[in-house]
Amino acid sequence: MAESPLLTQVRFLTGVGPVRAESLERLEIETVEDLLWHLPRDLVDLTEVRRVGELEPDILQTVRGEVVELADRRISGGRRMAAIVIDSGDGFLKATWFNQNWVLGRVQHGDAVLFSGKPKRRAGRWEMTHPRIQTIDADDLDAHGGLLPKYPLTDGVTMEVMRRITRDAVERFVEHIDDPIPGPWQQRFNVVGLHQALHGVHRPGSVDDYLAARRRLIFDDLLEFLLGLALRRRAWRQSGRAPSLPVSAKIDSRIRRRIPFDLTAGQERAVEEIVTDMSEDHAMHRLLQADVGAGKTAVAVYAMLVAIAAGHQAVLMAPTELLARQHWQTIEELLEGSRVERALLTGQLTAADRRDTIRRIASGEVQLVVGTHAVIQQDVQFDSLGLAVIDEQHKFGVIQRSRFTDEDQAVSPHVLVMTATPIPRSLCLTQFGDLDVTTIDDLPPGRQPVVTSVVWDEDTREKAWKFVREQVVAGRQAFVVCPRIDADEETGEGMGVEQTWRKLRENELAGLSVGLVHGRLDNDDKSAAMQDFRDGRTRVLVATTVVEVGVDVPNATVMVVNQAERFGLSQLHQLRGRIGRGTYQGYCFLMAGRRDESSTARLGVLDQHADGFSVAEADFLIRGPGDVLGVRQHGELPLRVADLIADRELLEETREIAFDLVRSGEIDGEEAGPLRRKVLERFGELMELPQTG
Ligand code: ADP
Ligand code: MG
Repeated sequence: MAESPLLTQVRFLTGVGPVRAESLERLEIETVEDLLWHLPRDLVDLTEVRRVGELEPDILQTVRGEVVELADRRISGGRRMAAIVIDSGDGFLKATWFNQNWVLGRVQHGDAVLFSGKPKRRAGRWEMTHPRIQTIDADDLDAHGGLLPKYPLTDGVTMEVMRRITRDAVERFVEHIDDPIPGPWQQRFNVVGLHQALHGVHRPGSVDDYLAARRRLIFDDLLEFLLGLALRRRAWRQSGRAPSLPVSAKIDSRIRRRIPFDLTAGQERAVEEIVTDMSEDHAMHRLLQADVGAGKTAVAVYAMLVAIAAGHQAVLMAPTELLARQHWQTIEELLEGSRVERALLTGQLTAADRRDTIRRIASGEVQLVVGTHAVIQQDVQFDSLGLAVIDEQHKFGVIQRSRFTDEDQAVSPHVLVMTATPIPRSLCLTQFGDLDVTTIDDLPPGRQPVVTSVVWDEDTREKAWKFVREQVVAGRQAFVVCPRIDADEETGEGMGVEQTWRKLRENELAGLSVGLVHGRLDNDDKSAAMQDFRDGRTRVLVATTVVEVGVDVPNATVMVVNQAERFGLSQLHQLRGRIGRGTYQGYCFLMAGRRDESSTARLGVLDQHADGFSVAEADFLIRGPGDVLGVRQHGELPLRVADLIADRELLEETREIAFDLVRSGEIDGEEAGPLRRKVLERFGELMELPQTG
């Protein structure tokens, strides 16, 4: 087959050449196809732009002009007002914003800008409050008028050049693009054709054109991705012949006798859903999400014991050594005196112990395994694995979720993924779109929300430490978390964890037994420090975020976080989830290093919201998806143009469509051939999809 013209290297395009081609490469544009998919991030509408002299009061209009004055004033009530004055050649317009001083950082003296809003005339001057503000190139103003796409740029490629080459590329190449969505489906899904869409974004005839075009391109991006997930789910369900692991009333009551409390309604529901899945003979792929402290472990243990009762093995995999050990300890306590054979498999075993453990796993002698990544190494073969529980905590790859299966094994285990951070819905749809989801939405009884205070000033800080002392004297324990092992070298800001530990022992917490744990200690010292704290030999534990996930010390009631603004909100929520786990009221002090608007807003969220779902949602809106998960957005989410925040609604709609197409089998029809191939081309390898035409 001749190579598609779309794969033409951009350096062969008129006006590009080797030097510009190199610059374009920085934008990941190598071929014409890449260029066509390099979408504008905005559109400047100069068709209806007015000068100040043409303004009419109280109707929405866009004015253009040059920035001639920037001002920042404090006004009554501690509020701040930002003002920008522009000159359009025939008059001035003053725009004002309250408590939104960031606008001043967006423009400089002399910049050409557009303000869109409803002007008012006051004392002979035109004013707007809170207009939308866009900067434009000075050229834009004179040259063309009309609708101008604004592209992301890089050194060596100006807006002018980018507009020209994309325009040319659309003209010359768009006809070579096959529309993967058949005509009748375009109507059904309410999207325009792909050729029209590419024209519409790169050379829009109207704003409506542009919006419809963008919608289509984002739709494709999402649809292909979600179809990949839907197909993967189907492949799992079809090929994943799994052992059926039914539960009898007898087994159920035997398992419940091991759990020292009554399950909450949420836990019951989770158990019910999981047990139903596991009784079927295709593999479960389920995500269990719940707020910190909701009691996922008990649910996981229940499921593992079901597998074992049915004569199979079960494994629980944790993201860190520390957590694996803690799960191990919990399970050891629950199963004390039971005949279930169990083993801990982590990277720390000696070679001989490891060999022996692996042998006992392979022979089927060991029924329950707890471990880290060490359990998915090549040389670990299970005799008959029935259930794999992955305490994921986002630390394992998203797409490459381990399958625990040998390629030539006919039977795969049931898989339960647990996440500690509640996931905003739109992220969940993409990150875990191939899994069935169970949410535990309640907490064990008697759990009061942690009382959270943000501490800004020295006075309150002193009071907070006094409070910590009182709690310790009353028999409770406290965590103190620092963002870093070492002080920030550049700014000298903040203290390292060891420095903090020393200072607290000499001053604020003098006379108390204060432990220290951080990632640079070797594993034995780390475990020892944790154990001392768990057993109450140390009353305060100064730590880095190694305590973030999973660590469970019911007697700990205080969490102090130093330089709290350095953490993500979900991370802070995780941290405070470490306390208030017993019957005592928990207290969290977020010690802020400095007070500025964004940290005030962010830390305030924790004050206002006690549940992790609301916190995650707010964090997601403030920081974007990559940061919420602690991953680079594009490394983990292979989306080209869709934005999980801006395109949330379309995402939901598209997911319905993708899963419907797979459920109804339409995706297998002849009509869907091009779309199917597109999905395989983009995601086949990444998602391990079966390669059918
Ligand atoms: P997470 O969901 O964060 O992993 P855990 O499984 O560690 O939560 O449980 C948190 C704490 O709550 C543990 O100490 C556990 O023993 C306790 N717990 C869990 N479920 C219940 C329940 N139904 N009733 C009382 N305590 C519970
Ligand atoms: Mg846990």
